[in-house]
Amino acid sequence: MKYVSTRGQAPVLEFGDVLLAGLATDGGLYVPDEWPTQPDLTSPELAGAGYLEAAVAVMAPYVSPSISVDELRVMVTSAYSTFTHPDVCPVTPLGDSGLHMLELFWGPTIAFKDVALQLLGHLFDHELTKRGERATIVVATSGDTGSAAIEACRGKDHLDIVVLHPAGRVSDVQRRQMTTVDEPNVHNVAVEGTFDDCQDMVKALFADVSFRNDVGLSAMNSINWARVMAQVVYYATAARTLEASVTSPVSFSVPTGNFGNVFAGWVARTTGTPVSQLVVGSNSNDILTRWLATGVMEQHGVHPTISPSMDIQVSSNTERLLFELYGRNAGDLAERMTEFRAEGRVDTGDTRLAAVTEVFDGASFSDDDTRAEIRRTYEDTGVILDPHTAVGVAAARAVRRDPDVPMVCLATAHPAKFPDAVEQAIGIRPELPEHLADLFDRTERFDTLPNDLSAVEAHVRRVIG
Ligand SMILES: *Cc1c(COP(=O)(O)O)cnc(C)c1O
Repeated sequence: MKYVSTRGQAPVLEFGDVLLAGLATDGGLYVPDEWPTQPDLTSPELAGAGYLEAAVAVMAPYVSPSISVDELRVMVTSAYSTFTHPDVCPVTPLGDSGLHMLELFWGPTIAFKDVALQLLGHLFDHELTKRGERATIVVATSGDTGSAAIEACRGKDHLDIVVLHPAGRVSDVQRRQMTTVDEPNVHNVAVEGTFDDCQDMVKALFADVSFRNDVGLSAMNSINWARVMAQVVYYATAARTLEASVTSPVSFSVPTGNFGNVFAGWVARTTGTPVSQLVVGSNSNDILTRWLATGVMEQHGVHPTISPSMDIQVSSNTERLLFELYGRNAGDLAERMTEFRAEGRVDTGDTRLAAVTEVFDGASFSDDDTRAEIRRTYEDTGVILDPHTAVGVAAARAVRRDPDVPMVCLATAHPAKFPDAVEQAIGIRPELPEHLADLFDRTERFDTLPNDLSAVEAHVRRVIG
C-alpha cells in the first residue's frame, strides 16, 4: 500500500515512513492511496478469531510491504498483552434499550488511547531497529495523552520519551500515571506554565532543525495514520459481535475531540464493516456539531469542561474526511485548509454536507447534561460512565435514527480516571482497577522547569544522554 498526503505536495510513502513522519512535509495528513477491502470477519476462517487475529487480518493490508504479517502478529500480541480483559475491547449491553458499550479502557492507562498507542510503541521500535536509529518522542499533555504515550514507550530500546505537563494543572491521578513510571527512557517535566505553553514549546522544539536532528525528534500525536488504523479494528470486531445475534447493520456513537476515533469508524464502514450511522458526540466545544448542522466549520475558543480530552478548538483529523469530500482533489483541499487557517472558518458547501450527513449525525452537551447522563445511566442500568463516554451515550439517545439497529457507544475512559466528575453526578467515587490501586503509594519522578525553551532543550539533550 502507498500513502498520499491530503495536500498533494509531499512524497508518496510506504507505511514505515508514514509512521515515523506523522505530519506530511506539505502540512497535510497521510491517507492510503486507495481504500482496501476489509477481510470478512464473519467468514469461516475468521469467524472464530479473537481480537488479536482479527486485528492482524484488518491491519495487514495497511502495513504491507513495510511489515510482514508475522511481524505484525508478534507486535499485536505484545501490544494487547497489557490489556486486562481477555476480549481486549469487549462489547456489553447497556440496559435493554438496544444500546451497547464498546469498552476501550482495559489498557494500562484505562483510556482508549492505549488501544492505538500500545501498538504504536512496538511499531516505532520495530521500524527504528530496522533502520538502526533512535528517536525521542516529545509530547505536551493536559492529562490523558501523556500517560498513554509513556506506557507505549516505556522500556523500548530505540525510544526516549519526554512529556511536558503544565505544573499543578493536571489531576493527581493523571500526574501520577505519568510520573510513577520507573524506566530510564521515560522523562517527565512539569513546566511552570499552561498546557498551551507546553504545546507551543513542543512546536518550537520541532521548528528548531538542529535540535530536531540532534535528538531524532518524533511524534505519536493523533494525526499519525497508524493511530487511526489501529482503531479501525474495534469497529469491525464490535460489528461482528453484534451481527452474530442480530444480522443487521450496526451504528456507533463516539465522544469526539480530534475526530481520530470516529474517522476510524468511517474507514471501517468504507472498507466493508456494515455501519448504518456514526454519531459524533461533543461537549460545549462543538465545532463538529455546528459543521454537521450548517456546513460551516468555524473555530471558536476552547472552553474547559468535565470531559477535558475533548476540549479542542480544531478537530485535526477532519482533514482526512474533507479530502474524500473534495473528491481527493488535494489542490482544492489545500486551498480550503489555507482559508480555514487564515480566517478560522470554511464553508464546505451543501453537496458535500449532504454526503457527510448521509452517515454522520452530531449532538453536543453541556457539563450539566453530561452529569445528568451519568446519573440517568447509573439509575437505569447500574453502569457508571466516565464523562466522555456519557457525552457519547447522550448523543446516541438524542439522534439515533433506527431503534431496531443496535447502537454501540464507545466507552473511551474508565470512570475512575475522572472521579471528581462522577462523584458530582452520583455521589460515588469510582475505584481504580487493581493494577493502579497502589498509584498513590508509588514514588513520583519528575523535573520542574521554567517556561523557557532553552532550558527545556538543554534538559532534553541531558536526559537522553
Ligand atoms: C482523546 C479522547 C477522546 C477523543 O478522541 P478523538 O480521537 O480525539 O476524537 C475521547 N475520550 C477520551 C477519554 C479521550 O482520551
